[in-house]
Amino acid sequence: MANQETEISKLGEFGLISHLTKDIKFNNSSTVVGVGDDAAVLDLKDGATLVTTDLLLEGIHFDLRYVPLKHLGYKSAVVNFSDIYAMNGRPRQITVSLGVSSRFTVEHIEELYAGIRKACEIYEVDLVGGDTSASVTGLVISITCIGVADKEKIVLRSGAKPTDLICVSGDLGAAYMGLQLLERENQVAAKAAPDFQPDFAGKEYILERQLKPEARKDIIELLAAEGIIPTSMMDVSDGLSSELLHICKSSDVGCRVFEDRIPIDYQTAVMAEELNMNVVMTAMNGGEDYELLFTVPLADKEKIEKIKGISMIGYITKPELGAAMVTRDGAEIELKAQGWNAF
Ligand code: ADP
Ligand code: MG
Repeated sequence: MANQETEISKLGEFGLISHLTKDIKFNNSSTVVGVGDDAAVLDLKDGATLVTTDLLLEGIHFDLRYVPLKHLGYKSAVVNFSDIYAMNGRPRQITVSLGVSSRFTVEHIEELYAGIRKACEIYEVDLVGGDTSASVTGLVISITCIGVADKEKIVLRSGAKPTDLICVSGDLGAAYMGLQLLERENQVAAKAAPDFQPDFAGKEYILERQLKPEARKDIIELLAAEGIIPTSMMDVSDGLSSELLHICKSSDVGCRVFEDRIPIDYQTAVMAEELNMNVVMTAMNGGEDYELLFTVPLADKEKIEKIKGISMIGYITKPELGAAMVTRDGAEIELKAQGWNAF
């Protein structure tokens, strides 16, 4: 431990919490009381309330050998916002619960909170509470997010209908390729001289997609501006194949997606090639893209075409037809959920 680092025991649990949460300014009128009492007070007024939670365990969901704590904080918050957007809602408040083992210092947790607070600032979400405990198994982060939505505009996974268009925002597979790159460089670094510097030139995009993902607030706003309410929607966290199967199962439908329509960035393709991986499989099964996958009635096709950054990748079918990808040469491959999965 470096000299300037402060042991958590020096501040104590209460000292640490007040240190981490000082000067929090609220972005939402629905936040009445935040950190400091036995419970936060929210006044969400009308509309529906959305609640989502995520648990992140060191060694299972993140590896601190190559993920900076500030990025980890940012990402832990953003993945929750993404779940709220995927319901066609807006995130408003979060609570953050931490398990912290003794190898972490006050400065480490400050870094984590700098990332969480940055995400809250950018997405206009209020940090209103949490819980803090010692841990014997490294770092544990659990974030709960509260959001709001118009009751009539909530989008579930279960509303897709045959002939609906299947759309996805952004591009896929980049975060997974970023993770492969980090793991490779970490292995090289372990065997290399102490002054070894990994070379990430030309790979900035895939790294950013892994380390600093964004939730697609912009897409939700663009869809609303065009008056589009998707028939079904979810965020892509475990890979496109797996998410398409979720929509098909929840909606009792089948689907066809076209290999040549899957959006893939150049850097993703280059990295997949370097690793001898099939780039389309990477995009179909990689995880942590946090893009939005949704379906719209065929009648909305022209409106969708007007929105930049959305790809129409296929269509919904009757359930009997199953879920498949149509390859460039017209063959059909059944979709399987071999997606990225912590288990
Ligand atoms: P209690 O004993 O009632 O659980 P705590 O002492 O754990 O209360 O928490 C005191 C206040 O600090 C509460 O408002 C709680 O929401 C907040 N808090 C505790 N831990 C955190 C954390 N990690 N991040 C943000 N707020 C926290
Ligand atoms: Mg507590």
